[in-house]
Amino acid sequence: MSANTDFPLFQVNEDHEAIREAVRDVAEAKIAPFAAAVDEESRYPQEAHDALVASDFFAPHVPEEYDGVGADALATCIVIEEVARVCASSSLIPAVNKLGSLPVILGGSEEVKRKYLPALARGEAGFSYGLSEREAGSDTAAMKCRAKPDGDDWILSGQKSWITNAGVSEYYTVLAVTDPDGARGNNITAFVVEKSDEGFTFGEKERKLGIKGSPTRELIFDNVRIPGDRIVGAPGEGLKIALRTLDHTRVTIGAQAVGIAQGALEQATAYVKERQQFGKRIADFQGIQFMLADMAMELEAARQMVYVAAAKSERGDADLPFFGAAAKCYASDVAMKVTTDAVQLLGGAGYTRDFPLERMMRDAKITQIYEGTNQVQRIVMARQLLKG
Ligand SMILES: Cc1cc2nc3c(=O)[nH]c(=O)nc-3n(C[C@H](O)[C@H](O)[C@H](O)COP(=O)(O)OP(=O)(O)OC[C@H]3O[C@@H](n4cnc5c(N)ncnc54)[C@H](O)[C@@H]3O)c2cc1C
Repeated sequence: MSANTDFPLFQVNEDHEAIREAVRDVAEAKIAPFAAAVDEESRYPQEAHDALVASDFFAPHVPEEYDGVGADALATCIVIEEVARVCASSSLIPAVNKLGSLPVILGGSEEVKRKYLPALARGEAGFSYGLSEREAGSDTAAMKCRAKPDGDDWILSGQKSWITNAGVSEYYTVLAVTDPDGARGNNITAFVVEKSDEGFTFGEKERKLGIKGSPTRELIFDNVRIPGDRIVGAPGEGLKIALRTLDHTRVTIGAQAVGIAQGALEQATAYVKERQQFGKRIADFQGIQFMLADMAMELEAARQMVYVAAAKSERGDADLPFFGAAAKCYASDVAMKVTTDAVQLLGGAGYTRDFPLERMMRDAKITQIYEGTNQVQRIVMARQLLKG
């Protein structure tokens, strides 16, 4: 799993720094003030949605030829990281817009791209990703959702589970079995489903531990007619496109984890400089200093790994599957540890809703689970190591 030495591993250039500054301004002014309420009320962060649309950070990955701003993979990660630093739920807006639309970008015809990407780029329509089912989580090929041909159209029936921003997004990339007798994994096809399609409804919102501002719902298809020109790639190619998508988008979950951990580290650092016990600042105790140093060290290692993986995503390097999985797995484990330690550094105050640390700790947990659990990431990494 050697690094590609023909190119720099990654380079944060002036444009990336300018994007970080711009998105941090938006996040601080327009997203952070609502983060606690969004969590408390389990409501969609509409203020963040509007601010991200207004600043072109809603779906920054969409290429310029489809009316997007064409942010590269590293710039998109920086956007997600900076939003997650103040509100993880809101960071799922640009993250899931990339996840939902990347199958179209990677595998869709020019016609499908022209039909769906410009509205996403302009912020008129969000894009969700429908792969998982109740009985097909880690084992994606076990899905039951079916699409049967009917003339030039397809008739979609079944359900998808755990779909982020379901009900808010206008567009959904949905994976369905199109050849039930075909070879496992090669019998699945991807389609774009529109929110207004007849027979397409949503389940109740899941009641979750964290990312409470991001609605997670089932997609329910009751004989939904999908025109043939909404197919993404060729019949039977769907799962390959969906998994190739995840190689790229796992990097963005790594970025989300880095952002959450950064927010927690900053909050904890500020607190220990103020809090007095035994007649001095708790920051003056070496036990506290060592915790902070470890948190910052591991966070920086995670960030470097995510940025390397982002550069590999941008270049389409052959070892992206390893690096995408490693970055997501490592960064999410770091986010869980850093947020837990940040709660610890605030003592009892950290355990209350008076401070954002307990929210950050709850939000961090999901990064170890979605887009493939961290066990699944280790399977992906080991497969790369052992192949050949
Ligand atoms: C909040 C939230 C948002 C989500 N958003 C989306 C979305 O937008 N779109 C979408 O398609 N999906 C989404 N998901 C689904 C998510 O990707 C799955 O929950 C995840 O892949 C795990 O599947 P599962 O929940 O069925 O767990 P299971 O597959 O049932 O796993 C249960 C446990 O077994 C372990 N396990 C399973 N197989 C193995 C193995 N071979 N070796 C070792 N351990 C194993 C897992 O790691 C886990 O610890 C979301 C989930 C959540 C909770």
